[in-house]
Amino acid sequence: MDFNHYLSELSTSIQSIPSSDDFRFNYNIPEFRRLIDELTRKSQSMLNKIGSSDHIWGPGSSFPADIDDAYEWIVNANDDVLELVNEVVDEFHKVLKEQDMEEGEDGFFKIKKGKNGIGYFGDDGNETKPKVSFHVHTLRKPQYHYNLAVDNSNQPFEHVWLEKSEDGERFIHPLEKLSVLDFVDKDIENLVPLKPPPMECTPFKLVEEVNGLKELAAKLSSVNEFAVDLEHNQYRSFQGLTCLMQISTRTEDFIVDTLKLRDHVGTHLREVFKDPTKKKVLHGADRDIVWLQRDFGIYVCNMFDTGQASRVLKMERYSLQHLLQHFCGVTANKEYQNADWRARPLPDVMIKYGREDTHYLLYIYDLMRIKLFELSKESESPDDPLLDVYKRSYNVCMQLYEKELLTDNSYLNLKGLRRAGFNGQQLAVVSGLYEWRDVLARAEDESTGYILPNKVILEIAKHMPVTASNLRRLIAERSRLPYVERNHDIVVNIVRHSMQNAEAFEEAALRLKEEQAAFEEAALRLKEEQAASVSNVASVKDGTEAPQSHSSNSKDECAANGSIGIENGTIASTLKENGANTGACEATRLGNSVSEENGFPDKKGKKDIKVEQIGSSVNLPCHSILGNNAKCTITVDLDSDSDDMM
Ligand code: AMP
Ligand code: ZN
Ligand code: MN
Repeated sequence: MDFNHYLSELSTSIQSIPSSDDFRFNYNIPEFRRLIDELTRKSQSMLNKIGSSDHIWGPGSSFPADIDDAYEWIVNANDDVLELVNEVVDEFHKVLKEQDMEEGEDGFFKIKKGKNGIGYFGDDGNETKPKVSFHVHTLRKPQYHYNLAVDNSNQPFEHVWLEKSEDGERFIHPLEKLSVLDFVDKDIENLVPLKPPPMECTPFKLVEEVNGLKELAAKLSSVNEFAVDLEHNQYRSFQGLTCLMQISTRTEDFIVDTLKLRDHVGTHLREVFKDPTKKKVLHGADRDIVWLQRDFGIYVCNMFDTGQASRVLKMERYSLQHLLQHFCGVTANKEYQNADWRARPLPDVMIKYGREDTHYLLYIYDLMRIKLFELSKESESPDDPLLDVYKRSYNVCMQLYEKELLTDNSYLNLKGLRRAGFNGQQLAVVSGLYEWRDVLARAEDESTGYILPNKVILEIAKHMPVTASNLRRLIAERSRLPYVERNHDIVVNIVRHSMQNAEAFEEAALRLKEEQAAFEEAALRLKEEQAASVSNVASVKDGTEAPQSHSSNSKDECAANGSIGIENGTIASTLKENGANTGACEATRLGNSVSEENGFPDKKGKKDIKVEQIGSSVNLPCHSILGNNAKCTITVDLDSDSDDMM
């Protein structure tokens, strides 16, 4: 391991070989001559071997016969090797740092003191400042461990548990045959909120065996309401994997290991989830609903979404964390929200965190229903707030999971692409890399962000490295990109090949630039309008002028064919076919619509421009590129670092 020591020993012993006249004198002695000749032969052969290694030095770089050339060759080769060693050592240290390891005095690498090995927390498991890692590199992929079968083919997801319409065109959700009115609670006046016992006093079961799942199913069939939450990992699989299912009844908490029991969860729980007489309480269930469909063939009927209720109640914030604080006085530690939930055995803190997510939910549901009922009495609006919550929750349940599909135009959705202002060549590179990572991600069951993050695609397209070393330099600052590192040559070939293929992309590049310009103009106009309306409001207050409304489109129109909705985030268009409209344009982000690198769902920024404000004012040729069937959602970034999650 001690390279320096080895080198210094070598240079010391080289000095003991006589030189100049001494050498010539000694060379007359046969023993010395034999030794030196042998050494020369060995070195020559070694250098020839090294020199002929085309895949290291490139073709035509064999060891030169001329002594001066040879000297230069060796110096260059040494430089190259040392540079490579440096890169590898840097990379190694990066990995150590990410995994909280350090080099011990004995030269072995070990986990830093105070860490317990999976990079989560201190030895007491209860450290003041736990470091939660969203990605544990050393974990064996559960796909291998449990032999999970996933279909990542570039074909639409088949909802095999659903009936199809008569024309075979569409899947029918069991909710379609039910009325939301049947879910609305009848007797809220007499409702007494039921506070749960503290978690320490509540029976808990970690369900890791099929028998446990059967027992859970039996318990659930004997109650008429239960709370549910899921933990998920989207970074190390193509479509995402549900890692845990937390369930709380009024008296017990359960956590199901849905990686281990993946093939059994649906069999035993499908029925209770579908049963319209049983209330399922979830918080912010948009993604949970489609994950349940995707991984277990579970379709939810009769759901109360406390996230939707917090909107109807116009709470200060809509997060579970806020509800826990507000209604239960519980301060939740949200640090584990983005932990690597594939970790097994599950650390105690993560179990505790998981339980917290459902333990109080039925109580919050009680309190919220009472508030909603009170609201209906005091407000004059004809809309019943409680019914409103059930309608919203119904729409959330009606979403159907859609698999991400690759089309010729998918690359145009790449986050940040519009802002990049690329020419045809660069766009060709984006398209080539986009396709390469898609194919690889499906085959290897990895997220596209793990294979090759969007930002790196943009970076490569911007600089178009045509040699492996240029590519290496370009991505040197990045965290680990194992697939790129293993495929330098392929990536470089894609760049080269795409550059020759640029003509086909010139038109798209032109369109993108036009659209970008139109958007910048629209955003500017909107800002001006907003500024004007602020001064309008001021003059209304003065009694000088009537207020003006610029809302003409309804929220639902954001999904209408060809219409433009402006959300926040980076400028990007999505080709998503319409999902359920759960309010504003949120529903266009379905289960697998996660963002970059860490695979987290797209973060909602603060500067929300509402669709109705801009929908009527912009008309862009976006379906000219995307095809006429494309439904186009455009996001405008007023706050340019909002897309940076890490
Ligand atoms: P939750 O509904 O809060 O329990 O979140 C469910 C899953 O969504 C988590 O297991 C994560 O995979 C993902 N998730 C939710 N919020 C975040 C976040 N802020 N950062 C990263 N992942 C998140
Ligand atoms: Zn959740
Ligand atoms: Mn959760």
